[in-house]
Amino acid sequence: MLNREGQPSYTVLNEHDRRQRQEEVITRISTVLSIPRVSASILLRHYNWDVSKVYDAWFTDEETVRKATGLLENSVVPNQNMKELNCGICLEAYPRDRMYAAACGHPFCSACWTGYVSTAINDGPGCLMLRCPDPSCGAAVGQDLINLLVSEEDKQKYSRYILRSYVEDNKKIKWCPAPGCDFAVDFVAGSSSFDVFCNCSFLLTRILIVFSWFSVII
Ligand SMILES: [Zn+2]
Ligand SMILES: [Zn+2]
Ligand SMILES: [Zn+2]
Repeated sequence: MLNREGQPSYTVLNEHDRRQRQEEVITRISTVLSIPRVSASILLRHYNWDVSKVYDAWFTDEETVRKATGLLENSVVPNQNMKELNCGICLEAYPRDRMYAAACGHPFCSACWTGYVSTAINDGPGCLMLRCPDPSCGAAVGQDLINLLVSEEDKQKYSRYILRSYVEDNKKIKWCPAPGCDFAVDFVAGSSSFDVFCNCSFLLTRILIVFSWFSVII
């Protein structure tokens, strides 16, 4: 669909398109800010996948953004050269190499981590903003650490949440409301009213009016 200026007014996205776009914005943020992809993903999720909001916030005050999102640059736990460490949850002592920690360095054993992360994943998409189990700490727990700790099934669930977040937390993108349809529609900012057809041939504009979604596109 083209608007008066010949620009596309909206784009219908299938799962492959959404995954591809999500990977592209993660790569862009990761490259421009020189941060790991996992951190870029956390930032984008925090700013509802709005790339310009990420840039604005980061270049205005990186420290505040890091604090708000739990992206620590350095460990907050003094580096003790002990062979064993005590898990902060079960309090048992374990060899250092069997402990895991987020960027903050607070050590927990793999069984406690697995229970903590798996419970969060099964509680819903809030796990995308998971923080260190230490109650005084706000360090983000990213997908890289999560993938070391949980079952294949939980990993898949976490990946699905990230993919869905790209639509559900994104102000410009909406699911097609037709029953059983898996397409989403990306509305281009500044477009005036027009008929929006999903690829399943569902006319979305009527539904947009009924559910007061019009503010999204006008
Ligand atoms: Zn433990
Ligand atoms: Zn911590
Ligand atoms: Zn549809």
